[in-house]
Order: sequence, then structure tokens, then C-alpha cells
Amino acid sequence: MDDFDQLLTATVEHLEALKSKGVRFVPVDSQNLAALSQSTPQIQAISSRPSAPAPRPSVQAPPPARPVPVAAKPPIPKPPTPKPAAPKIIPVPADAPIVSADPAKAAAFTELRTRVSKCIQCTHLASSRKNVVFGVGNIDSPIMFVGEAPGADEDRLGEPFIGPAGELLTKIIVAMGLSRTAVYIANILKCRPHMPSLSTGNRKPTPEEMQTCIPYLHEQIDIIKPRVIIALGGTAVEGLLGATLGITKLRGKWQTYRDIPLMPTFHPSYLLHLENAAKKREVWEDMLAVMEKLEMPITERQRAFFTGKQA
Ligand code: URA
Repeated sequence: MDDFDQLLTATVEHLEALKSKGVRFVPVDSQNLAALSQSTPQIQAISSRPSAPAPRPSVQAPPPARPVPVAAKPPIPKPPTPKPAAPKIIPVPADAPIVSADPAKAAAFTELRTRVSKCIQCTHLASSRKNVVFGVGNIDSPIMFVGEAPGADEDRLGEPFIGPAGELLTKIIVAMGLSRTAVYIANILKCRPHMPSLSTGNRKPTPEEMQTCIPYLHEQIDIIKPRVIIALGGTAVEGLLGATLGITKLRGKWQTYRDIPLMPTFHPSYLLHLENAAKKREVWEDMLAVMEKLEMPITERQRAFFTGKQA
């Protein structure tokens, strides 16, 4: 071992000893500091040892000292917060008995469902559909959600909002302290908009399809008589209120459908593709407004959802 190596070994041992006593900074002269700064950044990051490219330590009288970090510990990355699992949606059989506190109401709704299940007015949709997607939930509920039209999952299972957008809607309903069986969920269109030769993908209903199908939704609303309607997305608003300003301008602003307060909000499938929580918070504010209108209890935790302040 030559003089330099001995000095280097002694320096390293000295630094290790200091480090083991908890010392995090040592004085070093400006010349050595300049030499150290020429070593590779990666090495600097993982070790403070004055190794290979570093020159021989100066033997001159040290100029005023400047502290340098000794083997700063890298920050321990926080494990990602696990996302709550999506609530499991158990499909309700299409012919499940319709129940209500009012037997006449249940009978009227059952008759409507039977009629709609046989509808062939849009021949192209009737021939391509697997199921008529009538609606699901509690016909005595004060809250009715209205979406656009069934997608592939809904067509296959005969129930609205059962695919990915439905999972998100179900999470929203659960966050409100409710469940799918406590609200009623329906669509403007009861058949999946026909996607020629495709089993996936969705298209917006045509004005003719909407005009043909909307009377069924009107009948559903007339029987249910919800205290609040939540219109999910622009097509739902358009179907219920006619031509409007568009969902971006309308969301969060109370409207009226035949004397029933109607809250327009974004469609869950729009939220599915957004990274940022701002739009989710907007939808959540719309749900808080609905909860306030119905005088539902709201916890501080619920008020803070999507603000980044929740516990
Ligand atoms: N999107 C809708 O608008 N309705 C559904 O039922 C599913 C997805």
C-alpha cells in the first residue's frame, strides 16, 4: 500500500467512525471539494467516500471549512395508498318481483316493464340487443339516476350501470351512504345502441332512438315520483330537458323536470379516464348538493372527499 492508499484508508476509516457516532457533516477544504465535485453524480449519490477520481488530499493548511453531507440516507418511499376495492355488483334478475309499499305502484311498474321488454319499435336495436335494460333499484326511492344507454356489459346482463362506469357509479352511491338497492337507476335508451359487427364500444343514441324510447323513461319517472333526479352526462340531460347548454355549463346547477329538481352531473365513464381528482370532486359536490336537498346526514369525512384533506 502506498502513502496515498494508506491516507485514503485512514480517511475512510475516520469518516466511517464519525458516521457511526452520528456525525453527518465534516469540514473539507475547497480544493478537495472541487475535486470531489468532478466525480460521477451516481457515485456521489450513493457514497461520500473520496474514492477513485478524487485527488490526493491536500497537505496544505485547510482554508475555511464547508460542511458536506456524509452518506445521506435516501428517503424511504411511501407505499402507495391502496385504492378501495370497487363494490361488488350482484345483478338482479330481469324478472325479479317489483316491490313497493304501494301495491298499485308495483303493479303499474311491473306492467310497464313487461311492455318495455317486448318493445320492437327500433327494429335495428331490437334485433341486435341481447336484453332490454329496463332499470334497477327501489321504486320508492327519493333518488333516481338516469344515464344514457346500456353498454355491452349492461346488454349482456340486462341491468344498467354494471360495467366499469357502473362500478364507479356504485362507488359514488356507496360514498353517499346508500346502495344500489336504495336508489333507482335507469337510462334514456333501454336497448344498447347498435354497434354493427362490434361487441365492444359505444355510440351516442341518435335523436330518433331517443325520441322513440324516452316515453318509457317518462312513465318510469311518473310512477316512481322521485324527489330528485340525477342526470348523468349530456345525453341524459338532453333526453330529459331537451336541447340544453351542454353538461360542462350545466353541471352542478339545479334544473327542473316536471316539477322535480334535476341535478346534471358528469357521466361516470367520463371520470373513468381522468387522472386528476378535480372533476371527481365536482361530481361529488353535485352529490353533496343532492344530499343537502334531501336533508340527508353528511359527515365531515364525506364533505372532504376528493379534497385531499380526508382522513
Ligand atoms: N352508461 C350508461 O349511460 N348507462 C349504462 O347503463 C351503462 C353505461
